[in-house]
Amino acid sequence: MIIAFIGLGNMGGGMAANLAKHHAVRAFDLSDSAVAKACDAGCSKAATVAAAVAGADVVVTMLPAGQHVRAVYSDVFDHAAKGTLMIDCSTVDVDSARAVIGQATERGFDMIDAPVSGGVKGAADGTLTFMCGGSEDAFARANPLLDIMGKNVFHAGDAGNGQVAKICNNMLLGIHMIGTCEAFNLADKLGLDAQTFFDISSTASGQNWSMTSYCPAPGPVESAPSNRDYQPGFAAAMMLKDLRLAKEAATTARAATPLGAQAESLYALMEAAGEGGLDFSGIMRLINGRL
Ligand code: NAD
Repeated sequence: MIIAFIGLGNMGGGMAANLAKHHAVRAFDLSDSAVAKACDAGCSKAATVAAAVAGADVVVTMLPAGQHVRAVYSDVFDHAAKGTLMIDCSTVDVDSARAVIGQATERGFDMIDAPVSGGVKGAADGTLTFMCGGSEDAFARANPLLDIMGKNVFHAGDAGNGQVAKICNNMLLGIHMIGTCEAFNLADKLGLDAQTFFDISSTASGQNWSMTSYCPAPGPVESAPSNRDYQPGFAAAMMLKDLRLAKEAATTARAATPLGAQAESLYALMEAAGEGGLDFSGIMRLINGRL
């Protein structure tokens, strides 16, 4: 099978390398160094989108945002052969995902949105989680390739629903991370140490993933970024991107998301303080005044 892979950055580089263990992968990116890295991992260089896509069976994209996805696919549609399957793994706004898949369908292509969670390590290790939106047929065709790049693959429904699942999950994650920081900070200020509060709350009704798997207070969860000076992990700037996508989608859908909006404001403050590169659990430093 010939795969055109467009967007070989932190995530796409690892994903393309895993596909190249099983298929012929043509690599295209605006960055020469990203393409060179992909070629070292077994891909072949394509000089343009057209060269990557011509005669390929599948196109996979992993691009920064909606505007890049819209621009790249307008080129892809002009050069792809009939029957080409298209998989966009980028995290983008729901409207862009639905618009581009709509154009693909009008042109007779199968296409899904398939954003991921699992980070750069998951991309390199082939253990990503995929949240997919699109027709049953397109999803079934994509599944064997998603299995190479990931560990968990979900079909969330029609076009764009992969993006919906991703931003709703990450909005909830941002909210409970901040709530967890507030609770640990208040406990500390009132004289209750982090480990004792963790032991109690992690078996009581305050228990949540931010606490038990990723505790923002140093100490209780050894593998958490809080024990490595909040080095990412999942950067605060990435969380801010996802919270902004959630806010945009909530405005369009006329859904009330007051806590999501508050979380977005707090992560924006963290970025404005020059700390967007810290892990998102580093929001603890904003809450406890140590930023
Ligand atoms: P990145 O910036 O490292 O990579 C994006 C790549 O796309 C770059 O190499 C860039 O040169 C290339 N690119 C941009 N415009 C292009 C164009 N027109 N044609 C060809 N190539 C182009 O970003 P990343 O961290 O790999 O993230 C990619 C996507 O994955 C984003 O949507 C991000 O939100 C999502 N994501 C990232 C993570 C993470 O931990 N990094 C986790 C989950 C999801």
